[in-house]
Amino acid sequence: MTIYADLSPSGLLPAAVLRLVREHADSRPPENILFKVNKEVFDLYIRELPELVSVSQEEATKINMFLGTAATANSFTVTDRKYCSNCGRTLTFYDLFETGRKRHGDAFVRRFLAGGEHHIQVAARNQTIEADCTNCGTLNLIPAESYLHYSGSIGGSAYSYAAAARE
Ligand SMILES: [Zn+2]
Repeated sequence: MTIYADLSPSGLLPAAVLRLVREHADSRPPENILFKVNKEVFDLYIRELPELVSVSQEEATKINMFLGTAATANSFTVTDRKYCSNCGRTLTFYDLFETGRKRHGDAFVRRFLAGGEHHIQVAARNQTIEADCTNCGTLNLIPAESYLHYSGSIGGSAYSYAAAARE
């Protein structure tokens, strides 16, 4: 189950919305919470992220072809450098993207990455994120114990996954 909260009205203070999201990430909710936010909040959130791991140029091209967008490789990122447990590949947003298509379907992925909306998801306690390695097919379970972010900030659209607030 996921709790859904729409915090996207433009009259809300961006910093206050972000604080609300982070406090939920701090205490790790029993269920995932999906916050819909506006572009201003999302841009503020992105600016404060730590170093990001981008997809390769080739991977960006494949994602852009699927979404019908023209985003740079820097638009598709994760915060944590994780490696495939079998082949050692650095898992990128591309692995999450392909896994998402397999698990949730193309329409779901398009909606979140190119649907003109911005979301920040706070991961529940004990949540793991599944990533099928696009090199060898091994399923990697990434614990949502550190701050993970993935994003396609393309055409004003983005999706992100905050597992814990960053200090
Ligand atoms: Zn692998």
